[in-house]
Amino acid sequence: MKYSPTKPPLTGETLESLTSCLKAQGEPAFRAKQMFDWVYKKRARSWDEMTNLPKPLRAWLADQFELMPMTLVHGKQSLDVTDKLLLELGDQSLIETVIIRAPQEGVGLEHSRKTICISTQVGCAMGCKFCASGLMGLKRDLSGGEIVAQLLHVCYREDAHDPRAHSGLASFDNIVVMGMGEPLANYEAITTALKIINADWGFGFGARRITLSTSGLVPNILKLADEPIGVRLAISLHGATDEVRSEIMPINKAYPLAKLIPAVRAFSEKHGRMVTLEFILIEGINDALDQAERLRDIAKDLHAHVNLIPYNTVEGLPWKRPSVTRQERFADILRRSRVSVTLRREKGHDIDAACGQLRLKTEKERELIDA
Ligand code: SAH
Ligand code: SF4
Repeated sequence: MKYSPTKPPLTGETLESLTSCLKAQGEPAFRAKQMFDWVYKKRARSWDEMTNLPKPLRAWLADQFELMPMTLVHGKQSLDVTDKLLLELGDQSLIETVIIRAPQEGVGLEHSRKTICISTQVGCAMGCKFCASGLMGLKRDLSGGEIVAQLLHVCYREDAHDPRAHSGLASFDNIVVMGMGEPLANYEAITTALKIINADWGFGFGARRITLSTSGLVPNILKLADEPIGVRLAISLHGATDEVRSEIMPINKAYPLAKLIPAVRAFSEKHGRMVTLEFILIEGINDALDQAERLRDIAKDLHAHVNLIPYNTVEGLPWKRPSVTRQERFADILRRSRVSVTLRREKGHDIDAACGQLRLKTEKERELIDA
């Protein structure tokens, strides 16, 4: 499931890998840093902009690396609460990167806080029954460079109205790894990308402002806990007993709750941070009150935050979200036991609606474009 482009993307290189590559060319060590400055701080979009690099070197680099491994197919001009960038990769695969704005009173939408939802695979192999990405199966992994490049496209769009861009800072506030794909099933690429996003020579973006969401690949949760990068962790739980969880998430058969919960505890203890348990409420599937009670017990045990997400209808699936009264009743069971819980109710700018269902929308967009 790998795509091997003729030229690797520059956005997949680390300071070490680029330095050693340039060294082999007889270039001084500081060149790598200069190049990353152009890419991540000054957002250069062509080799020619990199004026402090000798021309022959620029020509050599253009021959060796792809400066940007994807192109923007479309993204509308006006700003909306949720903006989707449709990006085309070198093999014509399409992915979406989503900008979610949190509107604040008294300021225009262009000044709102921005959460960026990035994808890690084209499709997903995990086959969760409620998820549009899961319905389509896995096409391929994204490379580290393709994961990072999504954020540059966000900057290209946002920089014009974000003053932080002038200081070379990222023009967004949070990153959620909650787009298409299971990030921990593409472990090398996501950890390399996180390193580049976090490093001073890269985006310089704080790990605490990054949340990685996983469906529960236990061995890689444990591996991630040992990495030097302190991202936040969210678990797609969606079932509070093995019986319910296995019915909607095939991964629960390989890694049932008795394995998942200790792994989450280990991560949480290592990082000293609350983990988030995501729980989509689907009518008649996982919204019974005894599920709420079990979820409460798990959350208390793990000292975790619970994010309740009313199910978003996916075309082709018969399920729907429970009534607001039922959602509230479910949430109350957690609240009464002082579990930290959020129940999302806003329409239209729902983070999970935006990024949980990327693939179907993407495919539809492609049909529209091809038509
Ligand atoms: N594969 C990872 C990361 C992708 S996150 C994971 O599953 O955690 C995608 C998020 O969107 C997950 O929390 C998933 O539970 C949520 N999601 C998927 N389908 C959804 C739907 N129909 N309604 C609401 N949320 C959904
Ligand atoms: Fe994959 Fe996550 Fe969707 Fe499950 S919820 S199919 S793991 S993207």
